[in-house]
Amino acid sequence: MADSWQRQLRRAARSLDELRARFLPGLEITPEMREAERRFPTAVTEHYASLVERPDFSDPIFRQCVPSGEELVPAPWASRDPLAEEPCSPLPRLVRRYPDRAVLLACDACACRCRHCFRKRVSARGGPAVSDAELAAVARWLRANPRVEDVLVSGGDPLVLPDARVAAILDALRSVPTVRVVRIATRLPATLPARFTRGLVRILAAARRGGGPAVFVSAHFNHPRELAPEAVEACARLVDAGIPVQNQAVLLRGVNDDPATMEALCRALYRVRVRPYYLFQADLAEGIEHLRTPLETGLRIMARLRANLSGPAIPNFCLDPPGHAGKIELAPATVARRSRGATTLRAGDGTPFRYPDPV
Ligand SMILES: *Cc1c(COP(=O)(O)O)cnc(C)c1O
Repeated sequence: MADSWQRQLRRAARSLDELRARFLPGLEITPEMREAERRFPTAVTEHYASLVERPDFSDPIFRQCVPSGEELVPAPWASRDPLAEEPCSPLPRLVRRYPDRAVLLACDACACRCRHCFRKRVSARGGPAVSDAELAAVARWLRANPRVEDVLVSGGDPLVLPDARVAAILDALRSVPTVRVVRIATRLPATLPARFTRGLVRILAAARRGGGPAVFVSAHFNHPRELAPEAVEACARLVDAGIPVQNQAVLLRGVNDDPATMEALCRALYRVRVRPYYLFQADLAEGIEHLRTPLETGLRIMARLRANLSGPAIPNFCLDPPGHAGKIELAPATVARRSRGATTLRAGDGTPFRYPDPV
């Protein structure tokens, strides 16, 4: 098993020097990049590095995984916990910002360290994965809080854990009858598609049997090039096994912040049965000023997607503010004017339409 996923995970480059020596010989390393690598964790899998076409920051794959001197640019609003998750934490590994949903932070590790990560406070910690005792505490809490029926398993990336740990997490959630839906958030379809072995897919599909919760996978593809044949195959295995896959993309400057790239991403996802679910405005996280876009950029992209794409291929464009407020949806304005007895709307191509109130 020379190319097993465990080996690929172990062999991920965890420094700029390793990255240059093993995967990207053309990489030019500056002192600022070394400083950024000291400030925020770095990891790149061989698969993800293989998607790089130009070894510099104009490449959308390179830009998402290689530490940049621009990460050192301070911003007054940048936060280590931009969604204010810590104050919404009833247990160390749980985040609850909605009455019916909670996030379980199953581990701190990831295969690839996204430069735009909003949970660097977790990933930088490098602690152990959720233990059996912690899972028992989570299950107890869920039994005491039956309104929470949808559990998002995240981290870190929960699927870097061995099959047995993934099964233990699902067993703990299955043991709570009020948990009806489990969503597993993972970047691995893009960064380590070999992880989606038949064995793992069997474990995920089995969780639903015997009245267990519905299981979804939330993937994280940001650029059409990330949908490599191996990634498409990983998604197909999940969907074929009855596990719906949806995508949560992040809008990133120089990666996917133009209408044509975003349209190509959504089209490519839709064709392989992955539903574009969210397009997130970048959070006010540390070290990502150079990757953020003005809100106007996303609104312009959404107008183009609305005009050109099938309904199920269009994601919801959202911003996640800190704390309990929940996500804020952003959409291009469609109401042009309210007048007496009618509303004037604007169609995708700008054509006005006057819709009368009932007589
Ligand atoms: C985004 C989020 C959810 C899930 O939100 P959906 O809109 O249902 O996808 C749940 N909990 C937390 C803490 C979140 O940030």
